[in-house]
Amino acid sequence: MIGIIGGTGLYSIEGLKIEEEKEIKTPFGDPSDKIVIGELEAKKVAFLPRHGRKHTIPPHQINFRANIYALKVLGVERIVSVSAVGSMREHIRPGDAVIVSQFIDMTVSRKRTFFEDGIVAHVGFAEPVCPEIFQILYQSSVDAGVVTHKGGTYICIEGPQFSSRAMSHLWRQIGVDVIGMTNLPEAYLAREAEICYGTLAFPTDYDCWYESEEIVTAQMVIENLKKNIEKAKKIIKLFLRRIPAERKCNCKNALENSIVTAPENIPDEIKEKLKPIIGRYLK
Ligand SMILES: [Zn+2]
Repeated sequence: MIGIIGGTGLYSIEGLKIEEEKEIKTPFGDPSDKIVIGELEAKKVAFLPRHGRKHTIPPHQINFRANIYALKVLGVERIVSVSAVGSMREHIRPGDAVIVSQFIDMTVSRKRTFFEDGIVAHVGFAEPVCPEIFQILYQSSVDAGVVTHKGGTYICIEGPQFSSRAMSHLWRQIGVDVIGMTNLPEAYLAREAEICYGTLAFPTDYDCWYESEEIVTAQMVIENLKKNIEKAKKIIKLFLRRIPAERKCNCKNALENSIVTAPENIPDEIKEKLKPIIGRYLK
């Protein structure tokens, strides 16, 4: 099953033949919303709007652990994150697509791991994006006729405020291409849960580093967002058509040799809590 996490503007997917909506309880609390399960392009899809379908959850209050845990329990093996971002580069124009390849974490207050309270694990994150999803998303975006940037560094800030101009210039100096508030710890947690992760990012505007004659209004940003969402839907359909059933990447074994605590030293309640994630390593 393929998970699609929708960001700002993407609260439902047209054409998805809905089979059920699941309200899932997790040991980490409630996910952002009910998870919509259905079929699209002959693939099983689980869709979750990360801010809730009525956009009531700000980035710093998203329960990322519950979201990823719930998708894991449903049997999701791959996640495509569709995210509205700000562009930090002149050549990445609003309306283009960016297939993100790296992340920089500037968040401060978020629960970012499943592994604590008696269990220690360190998953690799040098390549945070699944190589299979990356390639297929890129090809699908190009074939959808969208100007697409292959690779890019996404900085995740805490929000909900945007950056000051001084910070915006700083991010550019350290090599950031797009800026958002939600992909971390989402991507960390997906890796910990051995779920493949990839991001289709759509710049709605230039961040405040860009000084132009044109005054950016909320209305313009919303217009751009609407156009982007139409593109995102097209790309997702092509992506679903192409993604093979079997995973050949290493994401599925991310926990192999990553859990430091020996099984006999892991508290029973943690074993129970994390069963969907670490169950196969406890045998
Ligand atoms: Zn993968």
